[in-house]
Amino acid sequence: MAIQFVATELTDDERALQQEVRAFCESHLEDGSFEPGLGMMVARSKELSLELGRRGWLGMALPTEYGGGDRSVVERLVVVEELLRRGAHLEQHWTADRQSGPVINRFGTEEQKRRFLPPICRGELCFCIGMSEPDSGSDLASVKTRATKVDGGWTLSGTKIWTSNAHIADYMIVLCRTGESDDAHKGLSQFILDMHSEGVTVNPITFLDGTAEFAEVVFDDVFIPEDLLLGEEGDGWHQCTSELSFERAGPERWISPFLLVELFLREYGSSLNPEARSFLGSSVSRWWGIRQVSLSVARMIDEGLAPSVQSAIGKDLGTEFEQTVVAGLQQLVDLEPSLSSDRLFHRLLARAILISPSWTIRGGTNEILRGIIRKGLA
Ligand SMILES: Cc1cc2nc3c(=O)[nH]c(=O)nc-3n(C[C@H](O)[C@H](O)[C@H](O)COP(=O)(O)OP(=O)(O)OC[C@H]3O[C@@H](n4cnc5c(N)ncnc54)[C@H](O)[C@@H]3O)c2cc1C
Repeated sequence: MAIQFVATELTDDERALQQEVRAFCESHLEDGSFEPGLGMMVARSKELSLELGRRGWLGMALPTEYGGGDRSVVERLVVVEELLRRGAHLEQHWTADRQSGPVINRFGTEEQKRRFLPPICRGELCFCIGMSEPDSGSDLASVKTRATKVDGGWTLSGTKIWTSNAHIADYMIVLCRTGESDDAHKGLSQFILDMHSEGVTVNPITFLDGTAEFAEVVFDDVFIPEDLLLGEEGDGWHQCTSELSFERAGPERWISPFLLVELFLREYGSSLNPEARSFLGSSVSRWWGIRQVSLSVARMIDEGLAPSVQSAIGKDLGTEFEQTVVAGLQQLVDLEPSLSSDRLFHRLLARAILISPSWTIRGGTNEILRGIIRKGLA
């Protein structure tokens, strides 16, 4: 089967939105006013999330009746691209805006939509994703965390791992086993879990750069009320895989080192040798091609298509590109990067060297994505 992409560009309206967000970034995210990060999952700023909510830049593609903007996936891409390339602190709303909101909108009850979507669109709620477990990462269908039916709801027991933002999250969308079946994909369900429930323990995991943005989360007989089952009991696998398609091909998969390149040019741009010029030239052309893939995927989703294979291609190409950029910059500069350097470029390069290996792992490893692409080509 041939894999199709649509050829597309930003429309005049989308370019106008881009200018609007750029102007916002100039006035609200001035250089030196905050420590920028590399792409998503940097740090949180509740004030920034609330401000983005007030401007209608969260929940953009959600229905207006639940506080959303009824806008397109491409418009969300335009907004997110500008914020990410400035290294803005988006952690407070990132997962809720990208993924949990759309999943609740798609599978949630009317009551759940009314309860969760408006505060997500206002930037008030922080969500995390409870999929991976100590023995279930790529083989997600083998999760062992179990919810057992009790009077008025369910009790949840088990352990999740690598849960980004678990330490600050208000809610987790958790994937767990609720039934028995010889087919591992059946008998799974999703719940919206209040992270402040009794029996939830969050154990931070320190990353190579010393931050602790993800965690192990242990559930010890945690009670979940009946009305927080998300979607159909037993349909968790289907829901969860559709959720993954929301998170795969966005700008966060190819923009992480953008600021690093910009800072490199500011510091070394006046004396680039041929090697540096060649590296930058090829990086820019690859970057532009991958951005087109991402834009195409967003456009296809807006057209009602389900470009899951194209998304996997975008993430595979994008994250590998990001790592190549970091390795290339490391070769070009003659310095020992340090997290405590007084120069931003050096601090960010040090951070990138330490965290970039994770870019091809989070959200599904590149080996797993290539399996999806191969099946799509069959
Ligand atoms: C920064 C970061 C943030 C994360 N945030 C979250 C989060 O918020 N929520 C969450 O649920 N999870 C999160 N994860 C977990 C992530 O989704 C898993 O790490 C990932 O799915 C891989 O699973 P694993 O670590 O168990 O590795 P494994 O599945 O054990 O894989 C180990 C290696 O074997 C390869 N491999 C495995 N199976 C196959 C196969 N069938 N064919 C070929 N190769 C294979 C993999 O590609 C990998 O190289 C995060 C991970 C990182 C690094």
